[in-house]
Amino acid sequence: MSENTNPEVMTGNFIHDFIDEDIAEGGRYEGKKVHTRFPPEPNGYLHIGHAKAICVDFGTAEKYNGLCNLRMDDTNPTKEDVEYVDAIKEDIKWLGFDWDDRFYYASDYFEQMYDYAVELIKKGLAYVCELNAEQMREYRGDTQTPAKSPYRDRPVEESLDLFERMRKGEFEDGSMTLRAKIDLASGNFNMRDPVIYRINRLKHHRTGDSWCIYPMYDFAHPIEDAIEGITHSLCTLEFESHRPLYDWVIENISAPSKPRQIEFARLGINNTVMSKRKLRELVENNHVNGWDDPRMPTLCGLRRRGYTPKSIRSFIDQIGVSKVNSIVEYSFLEHCLRDDLNESAERTMCVIHPIKLILTNYPEGKTEEFEVENNPNRPEDGTRTVTFSRECWIEAEDFMEEPIKKYQRLYPGNEVRLKSTYIVKCTGCKKDENGNVVEVYAEYDPETRGGNTPDGRKVRGTIHWVDANNCADAEVRLYDNLFTVPDPDAGEGSFLDYLNPNSLEILKNCKAEKNLETATAPKSFQFMRLGYFCVDNKDSKPGHLVFNRSVSLKDGFKPKK
Ligand code: ATP
Ligand code: MG
Repeated sequence: MSENTNPEVMTGNFIHDFIDEDIAEGGRYEGKKVHTRFPPEPNGYLHIGHAKAICVDFGTAEKYNGLCNLRMDDTNPTKEDVEYVDAIKEDIKWLGFDWDDRFYYASDYFEQMYDYAVELIKKGLAYVCELNAEQMREYRGDTQTPAKSPYRDRPVEESLDLFERMRKGEFEDGSMTLRAKIDLASGNFNMRDPVIYRINRLKHHRTGDSWCIYPMYDFAHPIEDAIEGITHSLCTLEFESHRPLYDWVIENISAPSKPRQIEFARLGINNTVMSKRKLRELVENNHVNGWDDPRMPTLCGLRRRGYTPKSIRSFIDQIGVSKVNSIVEYSFLEHCLRDDLNESAERTMCVIHPIKLILTNYPEGKTEEFEVENNPNRPEDGTRTVTFSRECWIEAEDFMEEPIKKYQRLYPGNEVRLKSTYIVKCTGCKKDENGNVVEVYAEYDPETRGGNTPDGRKVRGTIHWVDANNCADAEVRLYDNLFTVPDPDAGEGSFLDYLNPNSLEILKNCKAEKNLETATAPKSFQFMRLGYFCVDNKDSKPGHLVFNRSVSLKDGFKPKK
């Protein structure tokens, strides 16, 4: 084993300390590459929590010049689907990780798992138990009392026979189990002769009806790891108390290798839910528009929202890997996206609540061109041409007939700068019969081309605008938190009670710079004064532009002192 010295790879953490120890000790890791795996259950789309596991699994392998497998953990014959398998692969690739040709299904090992179970029975380390679920609960004991099973001392031959007949389908679902013979008095209840096989007549998405017995996770997982030659099996903290069982299985079967399980803290983020069951509920009951709804914490949702792989990997790297569960602020995720887009996104202008501004002293039919920088942070991104004429669109809120205190935008008599072009002075407005402003009037000062005042007079406000004679129509979608409370799971009743009814606002009548007409996903822009927006990767079409607000400009994240 050797350590990667490339500074690009993930920041060190306690897992790496453990691995370093293993490498130094030699022993069971002698001559081996560090080998990890990411084992999703293909029963839903990946979310930002999975991104942490992916970065830990693939990132650790990368750091040590090792390998990381992608394994569908499909031993549980429930809702599993090729749709999910494909989506999982797409999301991992998008994050920038690669499993090469090491893609596996745990269900491919069913036969080997069965053989290892038989091996345990033969060694006197497993037995068929005829307690049903209810009796099992009744007999499980408590901290003072050991568990019991009247079948524990049944002869090996009898268990072998019954187990084989379980497989053949001779017994009812739930009528028998195979249990590991460990310690009925263990203080760790996972070690009190845990069930390792159960009878369950459910169709499996890959093996169909060929099996009616299925291995339990705690038995199956160490075997999957051992078969694949995994050296370090990294998983989340809830498996810590299962580790003795993991080790017991590895010790007692003739495993081809001896992996080590190391646990780390799950990622939780406030104002959202992360369990796949709950995410599925949101999708199936149409509270959101699919798994890739930009409000979802799924990777496909975040991608559609405009998150970049870089921003997500930087987020995961900065929150770090530890042994303590904690909840991360959603605003920190946004902060990481803003950081990336501030650097990379082109600047442009779009008006989302348009009202027309007419420059009454500007010649009719005249058009001027202005060369503006695409991104002041990256001169190499070049410039673009923006046209300017007598009429432009401005934000309705950038005009007030009777200004409130400190208002520095357009009101009769006041001057503002139309970004990059001219200083204009407001002269009035026109209203409809209901008193609503329908047009705003101003005069431009031809001496101020480029937005400068030759006489040095102060103009406080600068507003964005779009040439009304040369622009693109656009639909803009603004998003807010999906839930109104930081922890929707903590309240009484259902998490659905806390859905934010205003989490999506659709603005259909927006006006964007003509240059945006040909923009396609996954392109992101900074709309001046409004935030970072991306082209919607599903609904945006030529002639029907759709933008999602990825994140606003204002950073709501305050680092804790
Ligand atoms: P969920 O509760 O969302 O269904 P899960 O753990 O059942 O999550 P799996 O598909 O089994 O989902 O997860 C695959 C891997 O991702 C596991 O190793 C799991 O520990 C890890 N993982 C899942 N959720 C998180 C999270 N919030 N933070 C870190 N790792 C996670
Ligand atoms: Mg799971």
